[in-house]
Amino acid sequence: MPGQELLCFLGRLAGKYRTRAFLVGGPVRDILLGRSGPDTDIAVESDAQKVGREIAARVHGRFVFHSRFLTGTVTLPDSTHIDITQTRTETYSRPATLPRVKPASIENDLIRRDFTINALALEISPGNFGNLLDPHSGQQDLARRLVRILHPNSFIDDPTRIFRAIRFAIRFGFEIELETLRLMRNSIKQGCPALLTPERVLYELRLICSEPLRLQMLEATVKEKLLQTCFGWQPSRDFLSGLQGLASKSTRPDLLYVFLLSELPVTDRFPVTKSERESVQAIRNFSAIRARLIRVKRPSTIYRLLHPVPEPALRILALLESREVASVITLYLEQLSSVTTTVTGRELRKLGLVPGPKYRTVLNRLLYARLDCRVKSSEQELDLARNLVRKMRKQ
Ligand code: ATP
Repeated sequence: MPGQELLCFLGRLAGKYRTRAFLVGGPVRDILLGRSGPDTDIAVESDAQKVGREIAARVHGRFVFHSRFLTGTVTLPDSTHIDITQTRTETYSRPATLPRVKPASIENDLIRRDFTINALALEISPGNFGNLLDPHSGQQDLARRLVRILHPNSFIDDPTRIFRAIRFAIRFGFEIELETLRLMRNSIKQGCPALLTPERVLYELRLICSEPLRLQMLEATVKEKLLQTCFGWQPSRDFLSGLQGLASKSTRPDLLYVFLLSELPVTDRFPVTKSERESVQAIRNFSAIRARLIRVKRPSTIYRLLHPVPEPALRILALLESREVASVITLYLEQLSSVTTTVTGRELRKLGLVPGPKYRTVLNRLLYARLDCRVKSSEQELDLARNLVRKMRKQ
């Protein structure tokens, strides 16, 4: 939670530009709930860019401003952030597209927000410090433990709010208010979430994967047919059990996210990193490796089978596979993958091997010998290297 001293400082600084300043949205909700959050979201009624720039200069931070969205972020030397936005209205030309943004008063800014519990502002300007703006009875909904939208078109304008409604309701143990729930289900039935770009849906999924109650949240997105509608996808038979297995084992958020990607129909339109794409492929194609893995015992063979599989994919598979296969993957991750040779290319050169592809062949053979404990010391490894180089030079 941002400290009072910081808020006073930010309010005074905005005052220099004759603009009112507010702590807005989530941080205000969290203060009223008695929860602490890391965000400092400040809204000013004018000169957001100038205010942000001056804050950055005063705290020796960096400032980035996005003119199109009228939002900026100050990054402090300790890597924490202060978000500075210009209060604005947003208009949606078509459902599920990004809105057009225009400067407006704080009152109008609160109207464009997703839920009453997030449409809250706490003034931090000198003279009015601590004054709460709650035009949509957010405080009352916090007390009633309800997630409620502000207008009937909310989920049609922006279906990402459906993910957000689920996330906030489950995070706080709130209900989605009945009319809100009806409109949310209508938006899904009408197929509105399918109009979202994969980028926006994946952003929401990433946020969910970082939440402590992510399992319940992901189950709710499936139960409400939200993910199905976004991707024209049907969960596989193993999907929910895989999800339960992973989400209950305090799996890293990035791994849970890759697991989701491996189940969803990821296409080239999906903004996924090269590493995520490779992990997804490896998980999908694992059956061929699994069949061989069950039969092998020799460490070097296990190494050869698993070395090409990206590490995130292996960590996921170690949690999903049968105990037999999982224990081999764990052996690889915890022991075999860190085994190295003491002989390097430099030694091979000293032994007279001309640099080229043969280096890899010799170094691999030395590594396999190490893995299988056929060599146990540096001397033995060097002897083996000498023999191999001798043979190679004869070829
Ligand atoms: P969290 O606690 O997860 O950080 P937050 O409420 O701070 O949640 P942000 O995603 O950081 O949420 O957004 C900040 C504020 O911006 C929200 O509190 C809400 O008022 C508003 N907001 C965010 N996304 C939307 C949206 N899709 N539609 C309308 N308002 C939104």
